[in-house]
Amino acid sequence: ALSDKFEKILKKLRGQGVLTEHNIGEALKEVRLALLEADVNFKIVKDFIERVRVKAVGQEVLQSLTPGHQVVKVVWDELCDMMGREKAGLALHSQPPTVVMMVGLQGAGKTTTCGKLGRLFKGQGKRVLLVAADPRRPAAGDQLSSLGRDLGIDVHRVDNAQATQADVVRICQAGVERGREQGFDLVVLDTGGRLHIDDALMGELVAVKTAVAPHEVLLVADAMTGQDAVTMATQFDQKVGLTGVILTKVEGDARGGAVLSIRAVTGKPIKFLGVGEKLDALEVFHPDRMASRILGMGDVLSLIEKAQATFTQEQAEEAQQRLTSNSFTLEDFRKQMAQMNKLGSLEQILGMLPGGQKLKSVIEGDKPEREMKRVTAMIDSMTTRERRDHTIINGSRKKRIARGSGASVQEVNRLIKQFLSAKKLAKAMTGTGGRRQLAQLMR
Ligand code: GDP
Ligand code: MG
Repeated sequence: ALSDKFEKILKKLRGQGVLTEHNIGEALKEVRLALLEADVNFKIVKDFIERVRVKAVGQEVLQSLTPGHQVVKVVWDELCDMMGREKAGLALHSQPPTVVMMVGLQGAGKTTTCGKLGRLFKGQGKRVLLVAADPRRPAAGDQLSSLGRDLGIDVHRVDNAQATQADVVRICQAGVERGREQGFDLVVLDTGGRLHIDDALMGELVAVKTAVAPHEVLLVADAMTGQDAVTMATQFDQKVGLTGVILTKVEGDARGGAVLSIRAVTGKPIKFLGVGEKLDALEVFHPDRMASRILGMGDVLSLIEKAQATFTQEQAEEAQQRLTSNSFTLEDFRKQMAQMNKLGSLEQILGMLPGGQKLKSVIEGDKPEREMKRVTAMIDSMTTRERRDHTIINGSRKKRIARGSGASVQEVNRLIKQFLSAKKLAKAMTGTGGRRQLAQLMR
């Protein structure tokens, strides 16, 4: 996958202390190839590489980052730009109903996505009306009706096998009118599609759009078709006018070409991703998260999420308070160790962090996990008073603690040293400039 390739390329760069124009050039050659193999539009790739080169070569290296990290940051920034920085998802209009028109080829996933959007907004307590805007195909209406029944969402439907363009327009207008009169928050038009783009289809879509003036016209396109999806978006935008794109079947798209290039080619943002046939398989599109995933940094985000789920809000507040009040004790140190344990092994945690490899080697002892157990045992052998005030731990107390935990006095000394540096680090991280210090540690 693309992310594996990126990870390899960037790992090479990250390890480098000084970046020359030459090794940036070499890395960018590989990045270029990886993007082309991922089926990203070649013109977009060319621009992308050029922008990264200019930024990466020309820039001053910041004190807090290694040159390699800085290139990763440039690539990440450019990927975010490429996929757009607009707010994704769908914002409801202040004056209901918000009208959304779904367009696209047959089989792209329009009807399914109407159901997914309906489910999403119903879950937020909104009233949704789905409009079957393909009256000539009863099967299309049946599919929408059945989705509506399953989800408990209203469907506006008038079948008419001989419907003219004007009839289709009237049905859509009536649907939107009903949405307004009956107080719906969101009206979604499920328009008809064809197997190929043709003038009749485009003409009908333009007529509907002109008549109902929707807030959003969203193209639903199959991500697995790669550059065809991009071409499709360009044509629909030129003929009908789009406000955004929803890419479907993204879970089966190993290459990612459409996701990466559609915004850069058409200027239209991706709003959602369809990631499965089930009705909850819809994700709001986050360019920054996607960029992280592509760079193989996705684990960092999931680590943060995991950590957030493990620490309760209360625990976090308590810890924060202790840190800022400068009363971080050995007891807290032990609790922190126990929390880390819950997250997984120290090795796993460090492996997930960018720069974690280096941090791992900073930690004394060859087996971080065993180290953690020993530390806990030593703290367990202390009295409550000792845990709360490490300054009273004199020579004879150290001997007792060592004996109690099967460690040596040197190890007890080392523990106290580690505790003091953790305390210092904790304080630095909560204060101003903490982020910079942390970044320095990650080098
Ligand atoms: P329409 O012709 O554009 O209305 O397309 P449909 O909504 O009828 O979907 C066509 C097929 O694509 C159906 O079998 C859907 O279950 C499937 N489909 C839609 N979205 C997704 C998706 O995100 N992932 C996968 N795997 N299948 C999808
Ligand atoms: Mg359909």
